[in-house]
Amino acid sequence: MRDMTGWTIEALHDDHAQALRETSVLYDSKTDHQRLRVFENGLFGRVLTLDDVVQVTERDNFIYHEMLTHVPILAHGAAKRVLIVGGGDGGMAREALRHDGVAHVTMVEIDAGVVEFCKTYLPAISDGAFDDPRLELVIDDGAAFMRRDGPGYDVIIVDSTDPIGPGEVLFTDTFYGHAKRRLNPGGILVTQNGVPFMQGAELTGTMRAFKALFSDATCYLATVPTYAGGPMAFGWGTDGTARDMPLAVLEARFAEAGIETGYYTPEVHEAAFALPGYVKRLMP
Ligand code: SAM
Repeated sequence: MRDMTGWTIEALHDDHAQALRETSVLYDSKTDHQRLRVFENGLFGRVLTLDDVVQVTERDNFIYHEMLTHVPILAHGAAKRVLIVGGGDGGMAREALRHDGVAHVTMVEIDAGVVEFCKTYLPAISDGAFDDPRLELVIDDGAAFMRRDGPGYDVIIVDSTDPIGPGEVLFTDTFYGHAKRRLNPGGILVTQNGVPFMQGAELTGTMRAFKALFSDATCYLATVPTYAGGPMAFGWGTDGTARDMPLAVLEARFAEAGIETGYYTPEVHEAAFALPGYVKRLMP
């Protein structure tokens, strides 16, 4: 048996864990909301964990952040106002702000400590997003923010932790109902919805709520190596027709956006909505 001294064990699931070797620990402390750690790993670079669950790594975050921004923004075609719930590391804001047509991004993050910490220890993730004048950072519980009245959004992205601890409120029918209320006509709600092979009930729960709220409710997939257990699901809800966008239109919009990506392509966008049988069977 390998000596696991100096490894961090992420035990998000009852009968499965993943281990990442820590070549150095850069930070380990508690904020008012959660335990915050960052360490160096030989394969993934710097790794951020919250309550010992991997949140983001320097090496593979591009997959997750590209797929939760460029898919809804390019499908929408004219997104000007984007809301990010969570996203404390700044990666989601980084990708959303790469679209010149996006005039305003509101980011509602519950833990100021995560933002300040990631600015210092993981600057490559936000890559200057926090200095972009289009970004409005709000330190608040995303559920409380969503309950309030306020301006509408064309795309709402829930970039939260898993439904444990502070993230739990962001996986409720009430939250989704308020999110729908804050969408502009044709707006799209997308959510971090876990790895269905490991956390299928989470996806089923979100999809049940989305099907009651939206005329187009489904999910799409991308595989992020450090979200262990196979493809990750992203919830998709809209009353618009954004999902019917022909490939040629997505290709033209992607070319017009002039964004260089490591994972997203219009073909991947289209294919991401093709669900394997075991995921389809999780859909209500
Ligand atoms: N990529 C990660 C994943 O898929 O699990 C998410 C990364 S991001 C760091 C998650 C963020 O959600 C954290 O900064 C956390 O503080 C924030 N968060 C958790 N619960 C929240 C809530 N109720 N309102 C706003 N932000 C919340």
